[in-house]
Amino acid sequence: MEKREVKERIAKLKTEINHHRYLYHVLDKPEISDSAWDSLKHELAELEGKFSEFITPDSPTQRVGGQPLPSFNKVGHKVPMLSLEDVFNAEEFEDWLARISKIAPQNKLSFFGELKIDGFAVSLVYQKGVLSTGSTRGDGRVGEDVTENLKTIEAIPLSLRQPQTSEIKSIGLDPAKVGKIVDLGELEVRGEVFMTKAAFEKINQEQKRMGLAEYANPRNTAAGSIRQLDPAVAAKRNLSFLAYDLVTDLGQTDHAQEHLVLGWLGFKTDKYAQELKDKKSVSDFWDKIKEKRNKLAWEIDGLVISVNKNKIYTQLGVAGKAPRGAVAFKFPGQESTTCVKDIIIQVGRTGVLTPVAALEPVDIGGATVTRATLHNEDEIKRLDVRAGDTVIVQRAGDVIPDVVKVLINLRPKNSRLFVFPKNCPVCGGEVKRSAGEAAYKCINKKCPARHREGLYHFVSKKGFNIVGLGSEIVDKLVDNGLVKNPADFFKLEPKNLLELEGFAEISANKLVESVKKSKKVSLARFIYALGIIHIGEETANLLAMYFGNLKGLMSAGEDELQKVPGIGDKAAQSIKIWFENKDNKRLIAELLSCQIIIQSPPKISKKLAGKTFVLTGTLESLSRDDAKEKIRLMGGDVSSSVSKETDYVVAGENPGSKLGKAQSLGVKIISEKEFLRMAE
Ligand SMILES: [Zn+2]
Repeated sequence: MEKREVKERIAKLKTEINHHRYLYHVLDKPEISDSAWDSLKHELAELEGKFSEFITPDSPTQRVGGQPLPSFNKVGHKVPMLSLEDVFNAEEFEDWLARISKIAPQNKLSFFGELKIDGFAVSLVYQKGVLSTGSTRGDGRVGEDVTENLKTIEAIPLSLRQPQTSEIKSIGLDPAKVGKIVDLGELEVRGEVFMTKAAFEKINQEQKRMGLAEYANPRNTAAGSIRQLDPAVAAKRNLSFLAYDLVTDLGQTDHAQEHLVLGWLGFKTDKYAQELKDKKSVSDFWDKIKEKRNKLAWEIDGLVISVNKNKIYTQLGVAGKAPRGAVAFKFPGQESTTCVKDIIIQVGRTGVLTPVAALEPVDIGGATVTRATLHNEDEIKRLDVRAGDTVIVQRAGDVIPDVVKVLINLRPKNSRLFVFPKNCPVCGGEVKRSAGEAAYKCINKKCPARHREGLYHFVSKKGFNIVGLGSEIVDKLVDNGLVKNPADFFKLEPKNLLELEGFAEISANKLVESVKKSKKVSLARFIYALGIIHIGEETANLLAMYFGNLKGLMSAGEDELQKVPGIGDKAAQSIKIWFENKDNKRLIAELLSCQIIIQSPPKISKKLAGKTFVLTGTLESLSRDDAKEKIRLMGGDVSSSVSKETDYVVAGENPGSKLGKAQSLGVKIISEKEFLRMAE
């Protein structure tokens, strides 16, 4: 290649890499695979290696180029980075409204609501469209220059996108002015650096694997990563970024416009953020997000509610270090302190011993908590939790609360170190901890605790779903010798139940009726109910889909089991062992003799078998994932790039470059409608 050609190729590669970065990290809509993207970056790095004169600061290769720094330089903020005042409930929110109403009449106020991410605020300054300085908040006036670390975050653009004229005009701004500032001037954006829950979990798993201490929470880990002198560390942390403030005046008049412009400039913004026209909408929005809170990909601790109109916001001014025009409207705390009454060991259906803290009842976020899981022996050692300790308990959503920290200073003098039992607390049998596993297991297959938990599991909602058969009734049935194994449930008669305390004719008939009803069961539920180790709801579903009937599953060898998509070595082995066991074989025969009807999953046509599809653009009636699943279920393949091997390109709205490629290769292009007809 001639030098001129190299320069051109480098420019094209940069644009292409940046385009796919934007699709993946900002829009969450990747069009090519990670490895394809990496290979583009590799080519660019090689060319730049040979022709270093063509390297620019906004080149994708410059994200992780910086050397470790001796210390951070100070950066002054032209506009102070303020913090927000917190309000903790509706009453305090009302107080805030009343205060600002004195300056701005309430009937003229509208608000803007967005998620308050539990992260780390930073400022990004772009000169002539290229990222020049990224800094921390510091004391609000002076922060630290952490540009090299921020550059490692793929969601932060190294160069700005130029908004389209039509976009700018649609909100009444002047395209010429905006274009000039983006291209030639200075532009400042603020936002939050954070770590997703998934990234945090992954990094902790890695720490654990290496025998290192785990990190406490995503927020501190994100903040710590940004304040590392070596950018290589930050690069490994998989941090993310959401923009929420456009500091530079582009003519915007309200905060909602800022969010739009930030998106057009190439930033990822909060997709839940919205204008809220009055107090009622704020409260509805708060309720809605609080519900969603635990399902979000990252941690939030409330909402930021701002006065939407910038003019009023500025008029309201600053009180102390916080603007009067916005508040952090927090969600109820998910942590509280309480006392550990005792540490109990529970034995589960797979024999796992789980230590549980019995707590002095405490209200956390509106629910009474009496127990918290201590996970395993290592966790007890890490926390050094003892009976009598005062602890911080955390509750997040539907999961079992856990103990975050022991307040050592409040520990009673006579407290004793907790010693993990050497024997099963239920059967007295031997407990074992396999290499690489955190949990001890009771290895006695006849252990009553294991057995009983297995029965609970069998009748549970996701299993046979026998309505009205909770753990207390199962206990009664077992204690009175009426149920020894799962098949016995189906042999119960009302007269047996009448012998038990708490049963009358109506309730006895009702339960037997309910047991009868559950005899018709889907194959997936049947497999799940058996309680095979490593086979949860999802795996049971996959097995049912693949084999279609119980016979097929029972006779499958380990090799075939491993072929089932989503089934790993451990699960395959566990299934094989389970079905080879004599007692289990007998149980299956007994269950089938109780007239249980196992329903096979619906047959799915393999109409698309052998065909390879590529999807491009936005589909109207299906999400991309749904479309992919549909193709795969019907036996077809989905590829991320068009080649001669592609049979069909399904083109939705605003198709990408794949369409041109398909045309040039003569690959058949079909519309969404045509695709749906094919897949009927
Ligand atoms: Zn036991």
